[in-house]
Amino acid sequence: MKKHNYSAGPCILPQEVFEKSAQAILNFNDSGLSILEISHRSKDFVAVMDEARSLSIELLGLEGKGYKALFLAGGASLEFLMAPYNLMKEGGKAAYLDTGTWASGAIKEAKFFGETIVVASSKEQNYNHIPKGYSVPADADYFHCTSNNTIFGTQMKEFPSLDMPIVCDMSSDIFSRVLDFSKFDIIYAGAQKNMGPAGTTLVIVKEEVLGKSGRTIPGILDYEKHIKAESMYNTPAVFPVYASLLTLQWLKKLGGVAAVEKLNNAKAALLYTEIDRNPLFKGAAAVEDRSTMNATFLLNDAAHTETFDAMWKAAGISGIPGHRSVGGYRASMYNALPIESVQVLVDVMQALEKAI
Ligand SMILES: *Cc1c(COP(=O)(O)O)cnc(C)c1O
Repeated sequence: MKKHNYSAGPCILPQEVFEKSAQAILNFNDSGLSILEISHRSKDFVAVMDEARSLSIELLGLEGKGYKALFLAGGASLEFLMAPYNLMKEGGKAAYLDTGTWASGAIKEAKFFGETIVVASSKEQNYNHIPKGYSVPADADYFHCTSNNTIFGTQMKEFPSLDMPIVCDMSSDIFSRVLDFSKFDIIYAGAQKNMGPAGTTLVIVKEEVLGKSGRTIPGILDYEKHIKAESMYNTPAVFPVYASLLTLQWLKKLGGVAAVEKLNNAKAALLYTEIDRNPLFKGAAAVEDRSTMNATFLLNDAAHTETFDAMWKAAGISGIPGHRSVGGYRASMYNALPIESVQVLVDVMQALEKAI
């Protein structure tokens, strides 16, 4: 039986994506070939790459605004260094908002390239909220932030307006909510949180911000080279890109980002209402910064852990133990998780209350 999959990533994808990608492994587009054995330069795959790139731009409302989409390798982690390599001037500086483990990972890599200013950090409070009221030095080459903190369950609801490029790691909430994406100059996201299997990273680049760092950039790390090669500078991750395209097509059929945002808000409201109502549980993140994607929560009394764990496992739930840096539980409610799965979790939480 299919589990209620709350995995933080790689994560649940739409059932039709599993079915269609399974079919493509056996016989892709009725070609008599598996998608695993065709050239990335074949007509059929070039069409996949082109559509995945253009659909990404379309779903984010960025058509005609000077953006290019790339599907690269190396995960979001490689973008931690590609962004500074491409944007930070020799002797320049960058500004970072430190909101969690991944944000601090990005800061660490930026330091290889130049002065890296942390404009604010919630590290002292174990990243339980998003810092606000910070100011960004006007002479920074760019500002970097993380829209959703997968591990801590916080999410930025507002973004600063700045006279510099804004780079955002949207790995765990890309395509989940409506934003003015044209506020951002580089958006990157590892596919495995909300878009596809592990193995490819979506990078959205506003072309006008490139070519200004004065650095000589190795080809494989140069966004301009990848754009020029139409995301085929080297062999792309053929199968992950295809599965990502299927997810994007599913999202478009559903009505796009605005439609899925409504579903995501309903799921998050259902679970957070129970976390707040049920006397056995408490939320881990500041209420105003709660993520609609990753809900972190704890039992008030750890003595109930064994009972609760046995109950949710028996209900067919998978993947909710929290990350070690927060403890407790983390329910990741990505786009493809049905609200019925959230209801099953809420029912288990209520059953625990009755049982105690
Ligand atoms: C998972 C995650 C990453 C790391 O992604 P990789 O693809 O494993 O490099 C970076 N940032 C955020 C916000 C994440 O959730």
